[in-house]
Amino acid sequence: MSSKTTHTLAGLATGGLLAYYSKSDSTHTVLLLLGAHMGASAPDWAEVSTWVTTRHWFSANESHRLSLIPHRTITHTLCLWVLATMYSLYLLYYGAHQYTSLLAFAFCVSALTHLLLDIRTPMGIPLLPFGKRYRFHGFQFEVARTIQQRHGW
Ligand SMILES: [Zn+2]
Repeated sequence: MSSKTTHTLAGLATGGLLAYYSKSDSTHTVLLLLGAHMGASAPDWAEVSTWVTTRHWFSANESHRLSLIPHRTITHTLCLWVLATMYSLYLLYYGAHQYTSLLAFAFCVSALTHLLLDIRTPMGIPLLPFGKRYRFHGFQFEVARTIQQRHGW
């Protein structure tokens, strides 16, 4: 299971690696780390979710997640984040706003690392919008069969 801490650490490592391999100065390094930190959990916070706890007197409390966008659907679609990353890379090379483009590029690459962590979980991620979810199980790539109950606002 990928926790928020795991995603944040992976995102910061991604930002650090981007800064190291691009041999960037301190301003660019800060922008890469900031963008990577924001993008590390972007597929999750983009769902606009909250946890609701029902308290019981004589049994354990129940918690369930409410989200505006169902969990692991459009915000976790691999091809959309790949396209966003390619577009941010295009802006980085040909765009006018270098700092914004750098921030966007680190954001998108970090979101991709989020998806790489999530694809290893039983729930998996969709490769295409509104498609089936897939996951890596060991070295096998298969359709994810875990279904989470849908809760809306
Ligand atoms: Zn996620």
